[in-house]
Parts: sequence; structure tokens; C-alpha cells
Amino acid sequence: MLRVCQLMYERSYVVSSDGNVSVRLDDGRILATPTMTCKGRMTEDLLAVTDSEGKPLNDARASSELAMHLLIYAERPDVKAVCHAHPPHGTAFAVAGLAIDQPILSEVILTLGCVPLADYGTPSTEELTEAMRPLVKHHNALLMANHGAVAYGSDLWQAFDRLETLEHTAKIAILARILGGSKSLPPDAIEKLINVREAAGYLGEDARCQACGYLHETQLACPSGDRHRSTSRYADAANGTGKIALTREELVELLAQAVNSRE
Ligand SMILES: [Zn+2]
Repeated sequence: MLRVCQLMYERSYVVSSDGNVSVRLDDGRILATPTMTCKGRMTEDLLAVTDSEGKPLNDARASSELAMHLLIYAERPDVKAVCHAHPPHGTAFAVAGLAIDQPILSEVILTLGCVPLADYGTPSTEELTEAMRPLVKHHNALLMANHGAVAYGSDLWQAFDRLETLEHTAKIAILARILGGSKSLPPDAIEKLINVREAAGYLGEDARCQACGYLHETQLACPSGDRHRSTSRYADAANGTGKIALTREELVELLAQAVNSRE
């Protein structure tokens, strides 16, 4: 845990006392980073221990964002560790109102899947956890609007690796944009990658969440039938393909605005 905190700080995924890390122990207790402490200066004696509901079991005060971690543990019995940070490139997407869900890197589709954007919620309140709740089951990392990123996994290294992949992907997407825009993988290539990742056990069928804009164009659907609002309606346009998708209501509203402006 100390090593992961150190890496998060050294890589500028967090500054000052930003971010928090937790692990769910075998007996259900949670080991969490304390509130208001720099991750680059973490020591073992500072770590907080709580029960599965966040009730303190030692003298240290756990991060005020512990509720976000507890939500993820409750929704995902397979998850044993959570890393929350504000990595600059990933957070730039969250600030721009964009999900990291363009199918531009084959290995990211294989190992991470798309990263949706949860609506803004005040940190450390129910607003934030409620915005995240519908997405947690289907994704292994999320962006939080105007805030940052969170990644989780079956152990702490997997959670950290996913956070790192999220940040690396966001960085590549931004660089590709500077070079004139990225070329998305076609739907048949995406389908093959999804089949490979499920056969290899990297990600299950729940990760076929329809919050991933790129899955709409394949024959694949989420087995739970969940259909979340795509968080990157305008991302294709931003991506240089010139393609946008609007809901019926949005189209009607745009047409009404156009008519009104002529009167
Ligand atoms: Zn935060």
C-alpha cells in the first residue's frame, strides 16, 4: 500500500493530500489511507482500519472519500482494492465532460474496457456515490466529472495498473488529437477483441456496458440489458470523425431552437 501511494505521488497522479487508496482484507475490514495526508509521505502507522461499513477500528481517521470505496466494495464482491486519484490527463477528460471511451487502442479494449464519466457529485457526499452507482458493476475504472478518476481490481496492483492504463490512454488520446485526431477501430475489430477478452477471462460480459459508445455499433449487448446514457455523445465529433449522435428529445429541441431563432 505504501509503495502504491508513493508511485501515485511520484507519477503526479496526486499532489498535496489528494487521492486515497484502500484494500479490503480477507476478514472484511478495510485498510485505508488517512485523511489530509500526502501519499508521498505515507507511513504504515498512519493507515486507518475500519469495519466493512467504515466504522473506525483504530485511532487513524480514514479518508473522507471512504464512502466511494465502500460503494465499490458493496457493488463488486470481486474487488479487493481501490485507487482514487486526480491524474492530469484522465482528469482533463473528466473536466472536459468526456468519457475515455473511444476504441483507439486494442490492448485497452482487452484489459480495461471503456471508462465512463459519472455525473458531478460533491466529494464525500451521497451525491457522488449515487452518480457512480449504476456504472460500478460494468466498469473497472470511472471518471468523475470535474473531479478525477477511480480504478479498482482484485488486488492492489491490478487497481493501480488500471489507474495507470486509464491515465496513459487519456494521454495518448490527447496527443493523437494534436496530430489531427485518432482513427477508431472498426466494429468488427472491436467485436473480435471483446470475444478474446472474454475467452481469456480478462473481463466478463458485464463489461459490455452500453455506456461504451463504441459497443453500440457492434452486435454485442450487455447481458443485464442495462442501457446507460452514453457520456460522450459529442466525442466522435471531437475525435475528428464528424459523427454525432443525438437523442430524439435533443434533436427536437435543436430544431425548435433553430425555428425560434428565425422568428
Ligand atoms: Zn478526489
